[in-house]
Amino acid sequence: MAMEESSTEKRRVVVIGGGVAGALLSKTLQFHADVVLIDPKEYFEIPWASLRAMVEPSFAERSVINHSDYLTNGRIITSTAINITDTEVLTAEGHLIAYDYLVVATGHTDSVPRSRTERLHQYEAAVHGVDDEAKIRMVRALTIRLRHYSNLFLMAENQKIKSAHSILIVGGGPTGVELAGEIAVDFPDKKVIMVHRGSKLLEFIGYKAANKTLDWLTSKKVEVILEQRVDLNSTSDEEKSYQTSGGETIKADCHFLCTGKPVGSSWLKETLLKESLDNHGRLMVDENLRVKGRKNIFAIGDITDIPEIKQGYLAQRHAEVTAKNLKLLMTGGRESKMATYKPGSTMAIVSLGRKDAVAQFPFATMIGCIPGMIKSRDLFVGKTRKHMGL
Ligand SMILES: Cc1cc2nc3c(=O)[nH]c(=O)nc-3n(C[C@H](O)[C@H](O)[C@H](O)COP(=O)(O)OP(=O)(O)OC[C@H]3O[C@@H](n4cnc5c(N)ncnc54)[C@H](O)[C@@H]3O)c2cc1C
Repeated sequence: MAMEESSTEKRRVVVIGGGVAGALLSKTLQFHADVVLIDPKEYFEIPWASLRAMVEPSFAERSVINHSDYLTNGRIITSTAINITDTEVLTAEGHLIAYDYLVVATGHTDSVPRSRTERLHQYEAAVHGVDDEAKIRMVRALTIRLRHYSNLFLMAENQKIKSAHSILIVGGGPTGVELAGEIAVDFPDKKVIMVHRGSKLLEFIGYKAANKTLDWLTSKKVEVILEQRVDLNSTSDEEKSYQTSGGETIKADCHFLCTGKPVGSSWLKETLLKESLDNHGRLMVDENLRVKGRKNIFAIGDITDIPEIKQGYLAQRHAEVTAKNLKLLMTGGRESKMATYKPGSTMAIVSLGRKDAVAQFPFATMIGCIPGMIKSRDLFVGKTRKHMGL
């Protein structure tokens, strides 16, 4: 029999999730494998550009990218994966997609529109107010999204803030801190109270940076209460009264919940990977980023149990390591030669209002306008697009 074309000999790699990690992996492997990308939306969106797009809709033209723009040699299935077997993925539409290798990259689920056009329209509507229905849908979508990152929340809830004299922020992670910073700088007359269950703010960064952040917030008259929880069952914007675990009653006109959003792994709970989920619903992976105990299933990005902060630049590194390993395995390389992934060191920049930020680098912390400038530039959109070959 005549030799078949090389494309038909390629191994099938199915990538579930077209976010930061899944999109980059698909793009990287497209000429080395028969790549199938499954994602409920037709586009990849650079998450850290969404705030700028809210205030400057044309920004989204570059940060919302159709999967077909970078995945020119792969198959895109616009659907949600709902089950997997040893050999196939089942989509919500009932399609079965066979795989040789599977990569799970479903970081977080988001309530966003299916098409890029509709997404861009949402951003436009936000600014010009030409389409109230789209605006309402966007506000709902962004409210879900911004359980994790506060700035868009601000856009959606701007009126709520404007009409309040006092505001309670529940949670002192990056979302809560950024939200408190925005309000304190833009609305210095409002009373802001933050309640955080931990003993320090921004628990993923060091004490020095956390303390500097606390000092900065205090200097802006934000009242920070540590080591207490707000009883969420007792929260009520109508009564304007909130109980804490320490027995305190906090009076505030409204509140914002900034306690993080769940990982996108609930769909895995009834699949063959159910035993591979840890107590936090994250997929346990080995040093080669394979799901523990699985030979041909990898997991990358925020869904993994890797002990590091969940950041997009680390999700990109996972994609690069996994691309290397898949290329090796698909060309018959030995497993012992696979690349290993070492958890990233803690590096993060959390903005504090419009100009300042606190940065945690591996050997130093910095607060003020210099880290503020790093974060607010092009928001790394040019760099990310380049990474995607655009
Ligand atoms: C507003 C905001 C700002 C941020 N700022 C920064 C920053 O400055 N720097 C930084 O490094 N990180 C930042 N992050 C964090 C960064 O975006 C995440 O760490 C990164 O997106 C994780 O990538 P991921 O591919 O694992 O998951 P995601 O990007 O969340 O992608 C998951 C994908 O999976 C899809 N999906 C989910 N379930 C299914 C399913 N069942 N079937 C098929 N597809 C599914 C989703 O639609 C989505 O496309 C920010 C995040 C947000 C939201």
